[in-house]
Amino acid sequence: MATLVWDYLNEYHAERDDILDAVETVFSSGRLVLGESVSSFESEFAAYHGVSHCVGVDNGTNAVALGLQALGVGPGDEVITVANTAAPTVVAIDAVGAVPVFVDIDPATYLMDLDLLEAAITPRTRCLLPVHLYGQCVDPRPLREVADRHGLVVLEDCAQAHGARTHGAPAGSLGDAAAFSFYPTKVLGAYGDGGAVITSSAEVDANLRRLRYYGMEKTYYVVDTPGHNSRLDEVQAEILRRKLGRLDEYIARRQAVADRYAEALSDTDLTLPAAATGNSHVYYLYVARHPRRDDILAALAEHDIRLNVSYPWPVHTMKGFAHLGYSEGSLPVTERLAGEIFSLPMYPSLPRDTQDHVIDTLRSVLGSL
Ligand SMILES: *Cc1c(COP(=O)(O)O)cnc(C)c1O
Repeated sequence: MATLVWDYLNEYHAERDDILDAVETVFSSGRLVLGESVSSFESEFAAYHGVSHCVGVDNGTNAVALGLQALGVGPGDEVITVANTAAPTVVAIDAVGAVPVFVDIDPATYLMDLDLLEAAITPRTRCLLPVHLYGQCVDPRPLREVADRHGLVVLEDCAQAHGARTHGAPAGSLGDAAAFSFYPTKVLGAYGDGGAVITSSAEVDANLRRLRYYGMEKTYYVVDTPGHNSRLDEVQAEILRRKLGRLDEYIARRQAVADRYAEALSDTDLTLPAAATGNSHVYYLYVARHPRRDDILAALAEHDIRLNVSYPWPVHTMKGFAHLGYSEGSLPVTERLAGEIFSLPMYPSLPRDTQDHVIDTLRSVLGSL
């Protein structure tokens, strides 16, 4: 059987009773949309982050888009982010009519290079949108400092960083708001789509609640500003509540897999992921790097080990964003690393013999390059 980068079936078999009980709880509750499970999950997810508000939404892309709108970011506003991210980060900026502005990345962490921020700020800049990519955080302290100095808001894209910490603080607790995805592959994954935005601002919370509900107050059937239908599904919320209780355990298991890879591959000429000082990395992805990446992936595929690249095409090189006017060479580190990175299989229930198989095969492939 092919070795996959991600799979949820082992986990489902282990947690089946709890997951099916979550479904039964909602179906027998008498309330299928915006009921007890969504509001309980919202309180519990906010508490996990030590913030006062959480608003469940339908997916991570809309979490970013609604987060921007709730912070007052709209048409023509510039939002500074990175091109080394999942395209939805940028799709969401585009969806609210704002203009994505890309800065290059730090080659050691693959995260936004904070030294390049100041130079990217213009009179139209409204928002800094760091992406806590692969499972570790952009350092929010210098980011906050730059934002405050220029009067900007900060929206964290936490879709890959549930439970990650930086200098002790959870990802998502330091910006004006933070967007999460619960797409099944994520560190906290639903059994379908889901997302959330957290914030410590009562005003941003109220904006989000209207935005996800057509633009209406829930008890007041009037629209002042048109919104969306972006509610978190009640069944997914109940499943997420159950899984939130196991989040730290999932993370520990990901970290154990990462430790194993690090130990078994540290004497090869792969560049292995490194956690920045002060960061606890949750390894949404385990991203390694090698100049002969394509040869390595082709050789592994012959052994039926099919690995992913996240991401092979930086967003600024995509046809859909050509109108932004970035030419090739404008983000040299992002572009170079996109040709060298690849992801090893990573999920909490990854069997030990699969890890061994990947390690042994990869070592033999590297030995015969
Ligand atoms: C997954 C992801 C998203 C989008 O989340 P969806 O739930 O798939 O809409 C946004 N940003 C990043 C960085 C992601 O990894």
